[in-house]
Amino acid sequence: MLTVVTVDFPSATCTFQRLAEEGAKLNDQQVVLHGYIGTRRDASKSLTFAEFHDMTLGATVQLVSTPTKGVDGSNSPHTTLRELQEHSPVAISGTIKSRKAPSGKDGESKAGLITSVEVKVDNITPLNAFPNDIIMSKDTVFPAESRHLQIRNDPSIRNALAFRSKAARIVRNELCEKHDFTEIETPLLFKSTPEGAREFLVPTRTPGLAYALPQSPQQYKQILMASGIPRYVQIAKCFRDEDLRADRQPEFTQVDLEMAFASAEDVMRTIEAVVKRLWTELLGAKDLPETFPLMSYEKAMSKYGSDKPDLRLGSEIQPIEYMIPVDLVNKIGPLDDPIVEVMKIPIAEDPNDTRKFVNKFMDSPEAQPFIQNPHGQPGIFIFDTRKPLQGLSVFGFEAAEALEDMINLEDGDLVIIQARPREAFSGGSTPIGNLRLALHKSAVKHGYIGPPQGFAFTWINDFPLFSPSNDAEPGQGGAAGLSATHHPFTSPKTAADVDLLLTDPLQVRADHYDLVVNGVELGGGSRRIHSAEMQELVMREVLQMSEERMKDFAHLIEVLRAGCPPHAGLALGFDRLVAVMMGRESVRDVIAFPKSGRGEDLLVKSPTKMTEGQLETYHLRLR
Ligand code: ASP
Repeated sequence: MLTVVTVDFPSATCTFQRLAEEGAKLNDQQVVLHGYIGTRRDASKSLTFAEFHDMTLGATVQLVSTPTKGVDGSNSPHTTLRELQEHSPVAISGTIKSRKAPSGKDGESKAGLITSVEVKVDNITPLNAFPNDIIMSKDTVFPAESRHLQIRNDPSIRNALAFRSKAARIVRNELCEKHDFTEIETPLLFKSTPEGAREFLVPTRTPGLAYALPQSPQQYKQILMASGIPRYVQIAKCFRDEDLRADRQPEFTQVDLEMAFASAEDVMRTIEAVVKRLWTELLGAKDLPETFPLMSYEKAMSKYGSDKPDLRLGSEIQPIEYMIPVDLVNKIGPLDDPIVEVMKIPIAEDPNDTRKFVNKFMDSPEAQPFIQNPHGQPGIFIFDTRKPLQGLSVFGFEAAEALEDMINLEDGDLVIIQARPREAFSGGSTPIGNLRLALHKSAVKHGYIGPPQGFAFTWINDFPLFSPSNDAEPGQGGAAGLSATHHPFTSPKTAADVDLLLTDPLQVRADHYDLVVNGVELGGGSRRIHSAEMQELVMREVLQMSEERMKDFAHLIEVLRAGCPPHAGLALGFDRLVAVMMGRESVRDVIAFPKSGRGEDLLVKSPTKMTEGQLETYHLRLR
């Protein structure tokens, strides 16, 4: 029986905000309010109180209802209120009555409760029912299949979405109003090009033809630079069919920008302005530096074992193989002539507490990758002044003393040493860098040290232009065994780097920069190759891409050839940026409809199996 659904309903004549602001001044006024029924309390047969939440679910006013005089049928508003399920949307016509702020337990201000007025119910228009097979109390956690209910029930998700919307507004405002950027939408139906990540294909009804969804608007934004657009920005959807490793989504959002006639510094200064505005307006940050510090990839990897170092943690890594006994070098791993690195992590003042902590850590699954490191396990020591040579006897007298001075050891400090091969860095981290993070995380989790505070920004630059290819990333599929570290459009940094392109490509530094905060990469960009000859050389001669693959980029070469100005840009990962700003663990917490770890949307149940009819339409056959 369709009892409550209405087609027409009365418009609201008042907002909860006005109730809160004007309060008792509105006494005796008649209003219509829209919202959701909350918990109800029947004080007696003829007196009912109910919470009434506004449509943001953030403000609440008390409804008071008594039987309407002379009406005793089932459609009396009093009876209706008593029959309504909590969470039902309704329009309430009522009279505002000033009230004394509730005292005692009831008065303990519930978030958003308006205490200066209540609403006497004159009429109720139920707008829809809330089914009684859905149980929703404050702490109910709904599965991903019921994302709508989780969003409705969890203010932290709704807050994140509101915060995200504000952040997008600030980004647009800063870039378009203050820095003369033009917001331009680029196509989502793009074509397959070996830019770096695996793509999603979109088959068409023309046999054998497919679009690809863009992994980023990179090529279109460079085309815009050749089109006489000086500064482009887009809050862009990007698609990558990657392993959904830690906290990646197959579709995600970037603040994507590009600037003509610009250098790396121009882009960095522009991004700093955006980031500082976001942090100031949304987080009230006051002490952000004028410009963010700059650190080379080489330095980040050697000092922090990561190309996205969390600078708040301290625990800098230093080489020590030159100062420790050869015996020890030979003992800590199978490598010939390794680099041996050391770091200290202050865990507790009492060495026994540190010992307890580290034993527990080494027994945990988190320690497994470090124990199984083919280059040797980490050597673990605890600085303990009650022990011979302060617990560092294997270092021998001289090295123990030197080490104590070098890294300022105090009782209870954890000292870690680790060997690695003596070769150039590649990739994003080293085992000792990962161990640095894992130990800090575990020490925070178990209450030994407090969580790191604040935001430590840094630019990382001077990445190698090329990295050895690996199986995990398809790269550009060239025959040289190399992949572009960033993407194949990134420019070598200096003329000297250009000279190395054909002779020693792994030594070529890129004009590539990443913005990192607290161990998280917020974004990355580069100055681009804007000469067609150079772009062809990199693709054909250095990466050794096949002629067929080269053809995929023919449009770009043609565009660069047409007097394309020098240009540089960057993209900020917008989901991650919002998550970092809000201190959320996962990007899923700041996306309305995130995909699961298997790339599924469990609410709408995507992806779906293709039907016979669809396969036929797109001229496809399943193997
Ligand atoms: N398109 C690049 C990316 O998605 C960003 C950039 O170079 O501007 O990582």
